[in-house]
Amino acid sequence: VIKCRAAVAWAVGKALSVEEVEVAPPKAEEVRVKVVATGICHTDQHVLEGIFPNADFPLIPGHEGAGIVESVGEGVTSVKPGDKVILLCLPQCGKCSFCLNPESNYCIKTHFSESQCVLPDKTSRFTCKGKMIHHFLWVSTFAEYTVIPEYAVAKLDAAAPLDKVCLFGCAFPTGYGAAINTAKVKPGSTCAVFGVGGVGLPVVIGCKAAGASRIIAIDINKDKLAKAQELGATDCLCPQDFKKPMQEVITEMTGHGVDYAFEVIGHADTMVAALASCNVNTGVCVMIGELPSGSMISIDPVLLLTGRTWKGCLVGGCKPRDHIPNLISSCLEKKVNLDLLITHRLPFAKVNEGFELLRAGK
Ligand code: NAD
Ligand code: ZN
Ligand code: ZN
Repeated sequence: VIKCRAAVAWAVGKALSVEEVEVAPPKAEEVRVKVVATGICHTDQHVLEGIFPNADFPLIPGHEGAGIVESVGEGVTSVKPGDKVILLCLPQCGKCSFCLNPESNYCIKTHFSESQCVLPDKTSRFTCKGKMIHHFLWVSTFAEYTVIPEYAVAKLDAAAPLDKVCLFGCAFPTGYGAAINTAKVKPGSTCAVFGVGGVGLPVVIGCKAAGASRIIAIDINKDKLAKAQELGATDCLCPQDFKKPMQEVITEMTGHGVDYAFEVIGHADTMVAALASCNVNTGVCVMIGELPSGSMISIDPVLLLTGRTWKGCLVGGCKPRDHIPNLISSCLEKKVNLDLLITHRLPFAKVNEGFELLRAGK
């Protein structure tokens, strides 16, 4: 058993509390990882607010991390102690019908099919002050050591800079993959990205890599728009500067709407606006943002009747173990400016300050 620090969410609406926790050794087919770096995704904020489905408290959030394997349980063959790994918030069991289908990345072991607040054997490896603490998405990167099933880690190159590649645990493949795999953006096409935060900026990078000729970024925060422009957005719109709804502005700018629209905020109204912003006939709208669990959206069905496609994706449609290590290598090789996606570097004890920065749009 390892004693280390972890940021525990004891209850909905409470700040995280950095505590000493005990992390039990990995059981069969599990891996214990020393977490070196983690990002903060807006989904972690949804967990703290209590709007993420089936999150059982107390729990250790965090799902965008990279680290080094400390020990492995019986039967683990793909990684060994000392290996650098990326922790995957979407597993790839490699055996279920969805894993075997080359078209899908939604492994049946994901949180939306069966809660990942305990490990597959239905027990937790974390305790604090004598209480069992839940895992989050099996990842729980806000702990100095975490235990995760082997099929939710992927081995990285020994040279991978963990303080940057942690972004590939969620934000980067989610955004980039939504453009490349889910929308399948074509060269010369037009795109609109609603929300250019941690996940929206990689959507812009993906649209640019796919050869889009026009990339319209929409955000209420002008600082984010400046970054989007640096990463390839050709037009930046701040909704406060317009009297008309964004879908009308975008339709006027493009004639019949964009070829691809992405919602990367997590609001019902911007989801509908993104759908209405794409071409009435052949437009594709990809939903990435998450609404509180149980939410409903109502739309005028005519929006779809004319031929538009409305779809969503988890982690950008990437098959995590197969695709993410390759995506990391290719981004490092092409020198994608990952530094632009990193706004602050904080020591672990300041994790709540990190959330304050996220909430303040910094
Ligand atoms: P973020 O806070 O970094 O970015 C959100 C951006 O939206 C910010 O720049 C903010 O200024 C902007 N925004 C807020 N309200 C707006 C409005 N009305 N109009 C225009 N812009 C607005 O968050 P993030 O980490 O990028 O996450 C974005 C969403 O994606 C969240 O809902 C998160 O839960 C979800 N998400 C989904 C997946 C997935 O696999 N589908 C993965 C990660 C995150
Ligand atoms: Zn995330
Ligand atoms: Zn599977």
